[in-house]
Amino acid sequence: MQVIEDKYGRTFKTLRVSLLSTCNLGCIYCVQGDESLKLTNGAHPATSLPLSELLDTIRRLHAQLDLDTVRLTGGEPLLYHDLIGMIAGIRDLGISHIKLTTNGFLLQRLALPMKQAGMESVNVSLDAIGEEVFLQMSRRHSVQRILDGIDAALDCGLEVKLNAVIMRGKNDSQILPLLNFAFSRNIRIRFLEIMAMGHLHDQADKYLFTRDEILREIGRQYRFTPLDRLQSSTAGYWKTGDGHVFGVIANESQPFCHDCNRLRLDSHGNIYGCLSDNHPIALDKTDDENALRLKLEEALSRKQALKFTGSELSMLEIGG
Ligand code: SF4
Repeated sequence: MQVIEDKYGRTFKTLRVSLLSTCNLGCIYCVQGDESLKLTNGAHPATSLPLSELLDTIRRLHAQLDLDTVRLTGGEPLLYHDLIGMIAGIRDLGISHIKLTTNGFLLQRLALPMKQAGMESVNVSLDAIGEEVFLQMSRRHSVQRILDGIDAALDCGLEVKLNAVIMRGKNDSQILPLLNFAFSRNIRIRFLEIMAMGHLHDQADKYLFTRDEILREIGRQYRFTPLDRLQSSTAGYWKTGDGHVFGVIANESQPFCHDCNRLRLDSHGNIYGCLSDNHPIALDKTDDENALRLKLEEALSRKQALKFTGSELSMLEIGG
C-alpha cells in the first residue's frame, strides 16, 4: 500500500488515543474549575466508545499506516474502565511501542498490571514538588501519592519520563526542585512551554515561561550542553556535566511541526491530523479502506507547516 505522505514528507507513525474526557485532577492550564473532577473512580461508559470498537479502529488505522507507537492519553487514562484490556489488545496488534501519559495519581496501583499487559513507558505529568504549589497547579492535595507512583513504575521496570508545564508566576519556582527530583531517580524530565489550548487558547501569552528562561533558571545550578534532536521529537535535550539529561518542549519558541508524525484519535472515534485543528474527522466502522485512506489524507492536509496556532479544545478532550 502506498504510504500516505504530505508535500513535506510527513506521515503518521504515532497514534495518540484519548481514551476518555474525565480526570481526577483539575490542572489550571487545562480546566477552569472542577469540571474535570466529575468522576474519581472509573470512567462513565457513555463517554467513550466500547473497548472492542476503539481497538478495531486502532487495528484499521494500523493497517493503513503501519504505526510504530500508540500513546494512551485522556483526560486521565488510568481512569479508563478497561485499560489493561486496551493495552493487551494493542500489544496483540503487533504495534512496537505502547506508551501512556498520566497524572500519576493511580499509578502505584496500576503500574505492574500495565507492565505485564505490554506497556513500555509512562510520561508522568508533574508540575510541582512542593505540596502548596502542587495544590495551586492541580487543585488537589498529596503530591506524595504521585511520587510513590513514579517509584512503583520504576520498580516494575517501566521507562518513566516526567513532563512539567511551566507557568510564569505559578510554578516557575519549581524548575530546579523538579529537576533535582528527576536526577535523584535518574529519569528524564521535560519542561513544557504553556500551550494556547482550551480556556487559555487566547490568553496563554501571559503565562508563557520560555525555553530560554527555563534554561537560564537551570543554568543557576548546572552546566549543560545540547544533544542532537531526534526525528519527530517534540523535545530538545541537554546533558549536564554529571551526565543527567533533561528536555524542553518549546512549542512556542522552538516549534516542531516540520517533521510531526502524530495522529490523534478521541474517545468518540474521531481523528485529528493536527492539534491546531478543532474540527474532528468522524470515522465510521463502515468506511472501507479507500474511504479511510481519504479521511487520513484529509487529516494530514490539516497539519500546520510552521507552528502550533492554538486550539479551543482542552487537554481534557484531546489529551494534548
Ligand atoms: S501543531 Fe500540528 S503539526 Fe504542529 S506539532 Fe502540533 S500536531 Fe504537529
